[in-house]
Amino acid sequence: MALEQEDWKLKFKELAQECEALQQNVEAAHALNRSLTAQLALGVRGQSATLDAELDQLRELLLKPGNPGTLDKTFGRVERQIKLLDDQRLSVSGDIRNAFDRWIGQLKGLSQSEAFANLLKNTAKRVPDASEHLYKLSGLLLEMVELQKGLLPASSSTETYELNGRGDTDALEVEMLERRVADEMLKLIDALNVQSSGLALARQLIERIEAGLKSADIPDLMSELVRLARLSAGLEHQEFENYLINLNEQLAYVQEFLSQSQDEERQAFEAHQHLDNAVRQNVRQLHQSVKASNDLPSLKLAVSQQLASIVSTMDQYRSHESEREKRMQVRYESLLEKVDQMEVEASRVRSRMEEEQLRARTDPLTGLPNRVSYDDQLKEALGRWQRYQTPFAIAVVDLDRFKEINDAYGHLAGDKVLRLVARVLQRNLRGSDFIARYGGEEFVIIFPSTVGTDAKSAADKLRDAVQNSPFHFRGEPVQVTASIGVAQVGAEDAEEDVFARADAALYRAKEEGRNKVVSA
Ligand code: GH3
Ligand code: MG
Ligand code: MG
Repeated sequence: MALEQEDWKLKFKELAQECEALQQNVEAAHALNRSLTAQLALGVRGQSATLDAELDQLRELLLKPGNPGTLDKTFGRVERQIKLLDDQRLSVSGDIRNAFDRWIGQLKGLSQSEAFANLLKNTAKRVPDASEHLYKLSGLLLEMVELQKGLLPASSSTETYELNGRGDTDALEVEMLERRVADEMLKLIDALNVQSSGLALARQLIERIEAGLKSADIPDLMSELVRLARLSAGLEHQEFENYLINLNEQLAYVQEFLSQSQDEERQAFEAHQHLDNAVRQNVRQLHQSVKASNDLPSLKLAVSQQLASIVSTMDQYRSHESEREKRMQVRYESLLEKVDQMEVEASRVRSRMEEEQLRARTDPLTGLPNRVSYDDQLKEALGRWQRYQTPFAIAVVDLDRFKEINDAYGHLAGDKVLRLVARVLQRNLRGSDFIARYGGEEFVIIFPSTVGTDAKSAADKLRDAVQNSPFHFRGEPVQVTASIGVAQVGAEDAEEDVFARADAALYRAKEEGRNKVVSA
């Protein structure tokens, strides 16, 4: 390209000086000099109309020797024109440099990747040179376009830089949400106190959730949860149903958020692609302008217009991008609120369920564990016995002639006696012993890690304590006694066997006159 003015300007000056020297000394060389200078003047035409006119005149003067004064003046004017062009060139390269710097600045803001920052830094280093030597512009522009393409989220390009790391953050947020929802579901299943009929389903659901809950699975899992809830004992049917409906609505909101996020993600991808195309288009035009321009002013205009257009396209993209981010932020915050609310409600329902379950396992009159609870404890003790041969014993306690107490003092007084006896028994047991109200005026005790003889001693202590408790009714002492049957677990015992033996021993204690302990 004929734009390397620095070079030809120097050559021109050198030749002019040579000409002067030759002119003074050798007449033959004079002619050669004139002709060379004239040819050089021809070679540098096309930079500006004014310079062209001056150069034409110079050429004419050189080829047709005349007044040396006129030649000097023309030389002077040519030099001034060259200086003017040089200034123009400097101002063009300044504009181009500024535009590139702004463009690079914007690209910098779009990624936090260190690798990308380094590539950008290397490209930035080449800007001063390319804006001085416009023929190097096209290489630089191509490089910029490639760099920008590398920023495309999930593009087909092999080198992809994350846009501000946002794609990654969104994925993390979604994952975090899915984990929270999964956590809630697991806690819910746990709180449902699933009975045998629902165990298989519960296990299957837990497995599915633990394998990694995806938002798309939520509706299906919810309906399975409802099915499970129906199979389980727990809250009042209606209340639980309402809770699940509510939870489902909230989960629908989570799902909507997740699908909207995907939409936004897609829009961001499209916006970036649009940006990439627009910049490419601009760069193509820029190449054409550079090729088509014959003079510096029009080249300057073309280059700065195209670069300005690139910069404004990028501005637009960035402002859309930041609006999108703001929108996502607002929605994400409201979603977090919803999820928080969901967790609060879930924990409220859970504690209600725990209360219900505790109530279901507690005898309301004495506050002792009830028979349901006893059954569980017996199962556990039997399991330990079968696995580790840890023995245990049980005692069945039945108040003597309790019907008579009721008859003599009334049912309410009888209740009071039951409460007091419960306290006496509890107080005379070890912390590791388990006592439950089995029903009516009967209590059952499990002595863990205890053989029959030790259980018999413990039962004697209990019988003694009941007999010696100072019960009173309307100031009068009331004698309360208990009979106790004791049995130790046997090698082949099933759940009911050990109880049956203790119960048989109790029957014998009654037969032997009551207020007695009999071992099986
Ligand atoms: P035994 O010595 O043979 O056990 O005589 P008993 O009267 O205790 O035996 P029986 O089984 O005939 O009667 C049990 C009585 O316990 C009958 C019932 O009224 C009373 N009873 C059972 N549960 C309660 C209760 O919750 N409150 C009161 N006040 N009495 C109860
Ligand atoms: Mg009884
Ligand atoms: Mg009784």
